[in-house]
Amino acid sequence: MKYVDDFRDGTVARALGAAIRAGARPDREYRLMEFCGGHTHAISRYGIADLLPPQVRLVHGPGCPVCVLPVGRIDQAIRLALEHGVILCTYGDTLRVPASGRLSLLRAKGRGADVRMVYSPLDALQVARANPAREVVFLAIGFETTTPPTAVAVKQARAEGLGNFSLLCNHVLTPAAMHAILAAPGGVRLDGFVGPAHVSTVIGSAPYEPFARDHGKPVVIAGFEPLDVMRAIQMLIRQIDDGRAEVENEFTRAVTAEGNRKAQALVAEVFELRDAFEWRGLGTVPASALRLRPAFAGFDAEARFAVPAVPVPDHRACECAAILRGEKRPQECRIFGTACTPDNPVGSCMVSSEGACAAHYTYGRFRVEAAPTETTRT
Ligand code: SF4
Repeated sequence: MKYVDDFRDGTVARALGAAIRAGARPDREYRLMEFCGGHTHAISRYGIADLLPPQVRLVHGPGCPVCVLPVGRIDQAIRLALEHGVILCTYGDTLRVPASGRLSLLRAKGRGADVRMVYSPLDALQVARANPAREVVFLAIGFETTTPPTAVAVKQARAEGLGNFSLLCNHVLTPAAMHAILAAPGGVRLDGFVGPAHVSTVIGSAPYEPFARDHGKPVVIAGFEPLDVMRAIQMLIRQIDDGRAEVENEFTRAVTAEGNRKAQALVAEVFELRDAFEWRGLGTVPASALRLRPAFAGFDAEARFAVPAVPVPDHRACECAAILRGEKRPQECRIFGTACTPDNPVGSCMVSSEGACAAHYTYGRFRVEAAPTETTRT
C-alpha cells in the first residue's frame, strides 16, 4: 500500500531508532510534545518510545478532540436531549464522554433521550430532513480538521431552508491551545513540538511560526505513520542540538505552508472566533474556539435553546487535566486500569483511541515502566 507500508517498514524504523540513539546528546534531555491524538495513538501502537534513548521524552499534549471537551459542554448536550426533546446527533466517541451525575450521552439515551451516532455532519442533516417535526442538534466537536465539514453542513441546511437543524458548536483551535500550554504558569518544560498532521493539511505550517520565532520552540509537522513520527523526532533533536528553532515540515506529501485555502475560506464564512472557551485541562483559553457568525445564528443551538454552559469539575480522582497539560502520564492516575478502563471510562482520556489513557491501556500498560515521571517543571 503506497504511502502506508512505506512508512511502517520495521527495518527502516530500527535503523532510524539507532540513528536517533547515536545522534542524541547523552548529557541533555529532550522533552518533545506530540500535540495530536493521532500521534499519541501511533506512538503507543508502534512502540516508538521503546526505540528512543531515555533522554528523549515524549510528552502527550491536549490534541484529542474528545478528551478536551469539558464536562459542562457534554452536560449542555444532555440537557438539550433530555429537557428540550431534541434529536441529538454526534460522533461515536463523544457519546461515551463522562458527564455530570454519572451520565454520558449514551447513558442519557438509556433514560429516554433521543441520541444518535453519526459519521458526519451531513448524516445529521439527513436526520433533520427525515424528521421535519423534530428539532435536530448536531454536537460538533474537533480541531481545524473537522470544522470544514461542519461548515458545509450549515451552508447546506441554509440552502435547503432546513429550519429544524442546529449546531452545538465546540470546534477548537490548535495554535491557541499550544500557546496556552506554553503560557501556563509553572507549566511543563518542553523543548519542541511534533506538529499535528491532519490539522496542518487545513491550516498549513505557517501558523506555527510564532512558536519558533517568539517562544524558541522548534515545530516539526509529522504524518501519522511510525516512520513519520520518528523522522520528526530526529529533525527536532537536530534543531535543538544546532540551537535552531524553526518550523519544519516532515509531512510534505500532504501539508503546505499555506494549507487548504478553500477550506479556510469556508470556515471563515460560517464561523467567527469566540472571545474565550473552556477546555478540559487548560481552563478558559482566550480566542481558542469558534462559534457561528450572526448570519448563521438561526443554526446556533446555543442561541435557540436555553442551555448555558456551566463549568463542572472533573471526577475528583481523575488526572485527565494534568495529562492534557503534559504534566502527568496515564499510569500516574491512581484509578488507571482499575476503576477507569476503556469499557468504563471515568475520565475523557480513556474514551477515544486517541486519548493518552486509552492508548496506553491498549498498547503500553504491560511494558516495564522504567522511565521517570513527567512532572519535571521549569
Ligand atoms: S485513568 Fe481515567 S480517570 Fe485517570 S486520568 Fe486517565 S482517563 Fe482520567
